[in-house]
Amino acid sequence: NLQLSKIGQALSGHSGIVELMDDLGAALAGGSSMYMLGGGNPAHIPEVQALWRQRLTEIVANEPLCDRMLSNYDGPAGNPEFRESVTTCLRNAYGWDVSRDNIAVTVGGQTAFFFLFMLLAGEMPAGNRRRILLPIVPEYIGYSDQGLIPEIFASKRPLIDRLDEHTFKYRIDFDSLEVGDDIGAICVSRPTNPTGNVLTDEEINHLARLAAERQIPLLIDNAYGEPFPAAVFEPIKPMWNSDMVMTFSLSKLGLPGTRTGIVLASKEIVSRISSMTCIIGLANTNMGQTIVEPLLASGEILKLARDIIRPFYQTKSQAAQALIAEHFGDDFPYLVHRSEGAFFLWLWFPELPISTRELYERLKKRGVLIVPGEYFFFGLDTGDEWPHQRQCIRLTFSQSEATVAEGIKIIADELRRIHQGS
Ligand code: PLP
Repeated sequence: NLQLSKIGQALSGHSGIVELMDDLGAALAGGSSMYMLGGGNPAHIPEVQALWRQRLTEIVANEPLCDRMLSNYDGPAGNPEFRESVTTCLRNAYGWDVSRDNIAVTVGGQTAFFFLFMLLAGEMPAGNRRRILLPIVPEYIGYSDQGLIPEIFASKRPLIDRLDEHTFKYRIDFDSLEVGDDIGAICVSRPTNPTGNVLTDEEINHLARLAAERQIPLLIDNAYGEPFPAAVFEPIKPMWNSDMVMTFSLSKLGLPGTRTGIVLASKEIVSRISSMTCIIGLANTNMGQTIVEPLLASGEILKLARDIIRPFYQTKSQAAQALIAEHFGDDFPYLVHRSEGAFFLWLWFPELPISTRELYERLKKRGVLIVPGEYFFFGLDTGDEWPHQRQCIRLTFSQSEATVAEGIKIIADELRRIHQGS
């Protein structure tokens, strides 16, 4: 009869992200016949995989580098050379005035957000509580269980623009967005996981102004974004200043196994993140930093992202949209969020008679994994009865064309049955 602390329970109980990663792990472990349209695993793009293998060969041939990578602890902020090369990359891409003291490495972007939420929200020394404002949900499922206090997130519904019969887009509802004294930071992912929305430069500038007025940080999660992996299909001009915190990750470039996240922030926040890395995990992982460092310094990463990775995912997105149009037909109402980035399509079924959790269970029985949309609407006011929350699913298009095609065919068939009441 194990007695668990409240925090222990919060960090080890049932959660959407655990279910999603369990599904993903089981489906990708090999030998599974599941069509994996669930989690956010990057595709194995042949040119990109070849580059990682080539880098590993170079590292193995370079004895001192290989020994340092495998047999030395990293300093808690990350490898100095890697951090320097990150700044070179950001300076080359956007001309930002950043130094290595603005960069902290973490064990993946996921850990970076846990640290940032811990730093900026919760019980404050004066006895008040601060929360994280999500100015638009649906938002990344992986944040939702990271608050160690209840109700850490204050979220806002979006405006819904219907662009045509089968396309819509979310926008931030600035008219009803208030940033109260209880807010410690504003947070968005760009592109947004799960919707594939890319907040416009105007929306980002507006959020940055609101955050600056309140003297709180604006957190921007670039896991799929600029400058790498650049799965962004809209022209955007990323901006950063020291009141903003940006995170980047090597995962969606194709290196999730290396667990490498990067935080760009003021020197104070960077130094605190670095201490948290040390206290919680001692040091970061070295492998991803070692593989990617020279590619950041030379600019090769930017080229790879723009010339190979971006077009790859854009083509995948278009193919998945064409399959949906082909298989869904006119048998039930559906809309697809305008695909502006990331690895997902976000589908809305305005007349779905069951919850998307039930839809998820039914599809899993038929060998297709998707992610039910309910999980992405956390932090709304309790009692916020909004049917839209139970009418959306997220579908990943990064797997092979055969997998995506077969998956979509089965989803269409199941939805037809459900809408006909069987
Ligand atoms: N942020 C977003 C929006 C994501 O989708 C993910 C992963 O799916 C992460 C952060 C965390 O990724 P990682 O910890 O692999 O960097």
